[in-house]
Amino acid sequence: MYKETIVELQSFGLKTADNIKNDRKGGAGPADGGTFIIDNTYVNIPMSGKYVDSSPYSIATLEGRYILRKHQKNLMMIDKRVRPSFYDLKTDDGIPYSKIALLHGSDCLASTIFQKCIYWNSKDRCRFCGIELSLKSNKTIKLKTPDQLAEVSRVAFEKGYIKHVLLTVGTFNQSENTLKYIADCTKQIKADTQLPIHVQFMPPGDEDQMWMLKEAGVDTVGIHFESFDEKILSQIAPAKHRLGIKKYTKTWKKAVEIFGKNQVSSFIITGIGELKSSVIDGAEYLSDIGVFPFIVPLRPIPGSMLEDRKPPEAQEMIKIYEKVSRILEKYDLSSQKSKAGCVRCGACSALPLFEN
Ligand code: SF4
Repeated sequence: MYKETIVELQSFGLKTADNIKNDRKGGAGPADGGTFIIDNTYVNIPMSGKYVDSSPYSIATLEGRYILRKHQKNLMMIDKRVRPSFYDLKTDDGIPYSKIALLHGSDCLASTIFQKCIYWNSKDRCRFCGIELSLKSNKTIKLKTPDQLAEVSRVAFEKGYIKHVLLTVGTFNQSENTLKYIADCTKQIKADTQLPIHVQFMPPGDEDQMWMLKEAGVDTVGIHFESFDEKILSQIAPAKHRLGIKKYTKTWKKAVEIFGKNQVSSFIITGIGELKSSVIDGAEYLSDIGVFPFIVPLRPIPGSMLEDRKPPEAQEMIKIYEKVSRILEKYDLSSQKSKAGCVRCGACSALPLFEN
């Protein structure tokens, strides 16, 4: 198993020649990386950011494949996921598919359906987020319509690229509007493809509004608290901190009632200055109520407010993954049981490699 190498790659990043491009620049979640296949595992590896320049890892090309090198010594052959052919098609209204949704990991079609956020130009912006950066660089469009999403999903599915769909969203003015729009998009994708669908959103004012998502066909949800270190959360994600753990807990519990155990998740970001115990305590807290704690090392996105940071140390990540995998086992949670979304994909975290 190459799991230690994979953890190190996600901590150090990978130096590449200019002709080897990132899969996506900016965007919500761990962006600015490339998807590589290492020992049959799809891994999203950071390729830009200042810290990547000092990574011991680099790649050299050989007959269409790549040799992974550490400190200039050859380690192993790896592959880069090829650019999917559906990216070059255009929707009925003339938008390139690649501006509507992207292939994540091995088989997940992901879209940020609303590429703006009410917190972006305020002191409440999540410091790690790059949601409006890809919009600024014209890599995407502001609002994807249900028709556009359904069309891209159908074609990507028919061409054999995808097995599940992920929809994430910047925060609208009113939470009811956010969930209503997600529900409309879900209904249309589901009608055309029947694929499992994962959606991510902030806790709504009224938790019962999540029934609307269930009725629309949503299979799994991500309601991300990001950090269980209260002081760090207040600095890194002020809007989430203001909602507070009580509101998140109420939302998670209702979501588990609606979507089931193991089908609700929360990111816990590591390497943002948090107390180490907060990651493990947070993972146990979530697991105890049936929520999957998805551990992700910080990805300092160029252009984001944390662009000068580094991801956490690989040895620390290994200890965290080992402890959290034992917690998952104790509460009978598993990434393999997740029907859709980041937990099923797993490319941005090495946690699945440590699960039994
Ligand atoms: S883990 Fe989530 S954000 Fe990362 S590549 Fe997979 S679907 Fe995308």
